[in-house]
Amino acid sequence: MSTLYTNIGELTTNDARLGDASAMGRLYNAALVEEGGRVAWVGRASDAPPADQRVDCAGAAVLPGFVDSHTHLVFAGDRVDEFVARMAGSPYDGGGIASTIAATRAASREELLRASLSRAGALLAGGVTTLEVKSGYDLTLDGEVRLLELAGALTEETTFLGAHALAPEFDDRDEYVGFVAGAMTTACAPHARWADVFCDRGAFSVDEARHVLSSARDAGLELRLHGGQLANVGAVGLAVEMDCASVDHCTHVSEHDLAALAGSSTVATLLPGAEFSTRSAYPDARRFLDAGVTLALATDCNPGTSYVTSMGFVIALAVREMGLSPDEALYGATRGGAVALRRDDIGHLGLGARADLIVLDAPRAAYLAYRPGSNLVRTTVRSS
Ligand SMILES: [Zn+2]
Repeated sequence: MSTLYTNIGELTTNDARLGDASAMGRLYNAALVEEGGRVAWVGRASDAPPADQRVDCAGAAVLPGFVDSHTHLVFAGDRVDEFVARMAGSPYDGGGIASTIAATRAASREELLRASLSRAGALLAGGVTTLEVKSGYDLTLDGEVRLLELAGALTEETTFLGAHALAPEFDDRDEYVGFVAGAMTTACAPHARWADVFCDRGAFSVDEARHVLSSARDAGLELRLHGGQLANVGAVGLAVEMDCASVDHCTHVSEHDLAALAGSSTVATLLPGAEFSTRSAYPDARRFLDAGVTLALATDCNPGTSYVTSMGFVIALAVREMGLSPDEALYGATRGGAVALRRDDIGHLGLGARADLIVLDAPRAAYLAYRPGSNLVRTTVRSS
């Protein structure tokens, strides 16, 4: 079965071998053929080959599905009171995670699944075709396994985040870090692709994070890291040292950090929803691009610091507040996210890529930043 998408006003492929030969790989008055879930043909609409089905895009923009490479989608409860207090002037110190842990532990599997599916549905409706989902709101051995099983119902990109906060049962940091790096990693590794640590001021130190990540790697997990959200404690250097696929937040980074990232295969994932929701200063994304760093954008969907389920909103923030052009933000939300997950089959619409795509209710992809606040995604197509 093949499908022809035709009358595409503006097709963004993110493949420089196609179209205008820019990084965006743009074509106009274009068509695309999907066959067997893959992109089989891309070119001018007037040259399109026949297919079993035909979708007339009527001049709309078509782009690769968004890759949301950083979410904490599986949780119960909310932290709206904390948000309201913060907007009234209370600073964020990371302490609110404990209230989400209590609510998540108390929720049944069915409640958690229903709430998570609802949020995943919102992401999908807004154009997300691949998402990463972390554990980290239980912090007991069985509980973290439960959260990863639920995450596995939503995605293959599951991440073990036992080192999200100190579990409330533990007074001794070393004891908890040893538990996470030992028995918890062993139990969780079969249910996860990735391991992550919240390495920041008030969270886990660089040495603690290195210990957890080393054990995770020995258990067969690939690595990513939260770093530089609240302060620069050296997380970026650790991420590069450990060859993490991505270091996420990067709100506080030095020139030395940027140089290290640029010479590495570690992506910097920026999460402007977190700055928005904590009323913090945004990182200057231009610094990263000028230094040669690969950027990704993600929602960081979580109940405390970024209850965001719209990649369109993230793109608009990145353009307005972080200095990216609409194309740079779009690239970060698609191909950048794919690189942050070490995937080359998604995030672009080159020949052979997964035919995961978005048909916009707009003639140009730049409308995502130009017309913020409404969902401009007409159709999300996710090949299975
Ligand atoms: Zn996060």
